[in-house]
Amino acid sequence: MSALAFDNSYTRLPDALWRRQAPSPLRHPRLVDLNQSLIAELGLDAAWWSSPEALQGLAGHGVWPGADPVAMKYGGHQFGVWNPELGDGRGLLLGEIIDSRQRRWDLHLKGSGSTPFSRMGDGRAVLRSSIREYLAGEALHALGIPTTRALALVGSDEPVRREQMETGATLLRVAESHVRFGHFEWLFHSGHGDLLPVLADYVIARHYPDCLPLKNRYEAFFIQVVERTARLMADWQRVGFAHGVMNTDNFSITGQTLDFGPYGFLETYDPYHICNHSDHNGRYAWYLQPSVGLWNLNALAHALSPLIPIPALKDALARYEPALIAHYDAGMRARLGLATVESEDRVLVQDWLQLLQAAGADLSRRFRSLADTTLTVQIDFAEADWGEHAAQARAWLQRYQARAGRENIDENTRQQRLRAANPAYVLRNYLAEIAIKAAEQGDNTPLRTLLTVLQNPFEERPEWAAYAGEAPAWGRCLSISCSS
Ligand code: AMP
Ligand code: MG
Repeated sequence: MSALAFDNSYTRLPDALWRRQAPSPLRHPRLVDLNQSLIAELGLDAAWWSSPEALQGLAGHGVWPGADPVAMKYGGHQFGVWNPELGDGRGLLLGEIIDSRQRRWDLHLKGSGSTPFSRMGDGRAVLRSSIREYLAGEALHALGIPTTRALALVGSDEPVRREQMETGATLLRVAESHVRFGHFEWLFHSGHGDLLPVLADYVIARHYPDCLPLKNRYEAFFIQVVERTARLMADWQRVGFAHGVMNTDNFSITGQTLDFGPYGFLETYDPYHICNHSDHNGRYAWYLQPSVGLWNLNALAHALSPLIPIPALKDALARYEPALIAHYDAGMRARLGLATVESEDRVLVQDWLQLLQAAGADLSRRFRSLADTTLTVQIDFAEADWGEHAAQARAWLQRYQARAGRENIDENTRQQRLRAANPAYVLRNYLAEIAIKAAEQGDNTPLRTLLTVLQNPFEERPEWAAYAGEAPAWGRCLSISCSS
């Protein structure tokens, strides 16, 4: 008996939005990892998740009682170009479960075989990219950023061709929703405009219930989507997360991070970083992410135009930039340990980032290092820490010292605040690479340890010292394939 309480509301929507599809079994599946923290957070039955029945469902060998797997239909703007042909091509929405706190979650099995929307693809996901998705979800979640997360990861002997032969895997993904901007766009652009209110009402009832009783509920809903997306983009910029493929089919209607491909976390602070090697024009370069968020919201606004008057859509979109800036400013002030607000704070943050860029400094380590010693010591040792950038660094540290002084806290408290806002451990590509290589050889221990470290990024432990450093030479210019 499945320990899962399924209630599948999405398949009660018109069948233009989905196709029923059974998963294809993976050859010789083996459990690679269970996300025990997530299982506990959702109040699920940990013993059941370790059972053979759970593994069978995770590997596509049959379907758990109550699940009703479907491939979702959607479209999307890929690198600015409309594509109506998209949909779940290598994943299935198994259904929705209600957790112990009566919250509803989508369970989505990624890598479960081909579907009517697979186009030329094989419907599979490889172990390498599934590990990367698992790691990123945990890393972002621990940094307080809304994201989909993996609950379980299964490997197999199934051969899957990418640039080279790899093996197939499945990832059980948990999300508030898998409805994407591209769902609405597809209805609008592909002759299903009559279903727009049906899908909008569904999303509102499930995710934006406070809009439900309002006369202008569609407008109120869109305003909240704008604000959540703005906050998500601000969060990504706060921690140096680069998504890599910000197509509208990869944007969640609830403002969670969704669909990890060739993503990366900035190590050396380089705003112009492009993490996706296939992004030749740099459309999704890191510094452009906030403007892409707005571009995507414009595409969504267009799709919602039959439901919401144009002036109201424009008013809602105008909220994006102020919401983004306010959330970003608050996040960056916290990274500097500032609880009060002063008008010069934004310039202080900008000058700090400019210094990091000029010095080619490691983003995360430099933030964390502001808590290593007192600011007086850091000013005294600027030469040793900053080399040719010492004068610029000393000038900035003196301004920061004066600003921190006006918080009326002692050095100890400042350092504590910084350690609570700046992770000691971040997801560096080379750390992911080590975990992937080991797991591909059947050793899941490095992956498990890395997950534990990333789930507790602020808590420095001596046994995790090796995870805090910058990448060794071999790990600095790893090329992340966009094939996943
Ligand atoms: P992504 O860039 O991974 O978000 O995928 C874009 C579209 O291609 C989605 O409709 C995916 O379902 C589909 N897709 C990606 N990889 C595969 C694959 N290996 N087999 C089938 N469809 C795929
Ligand atoms: Mg996608």
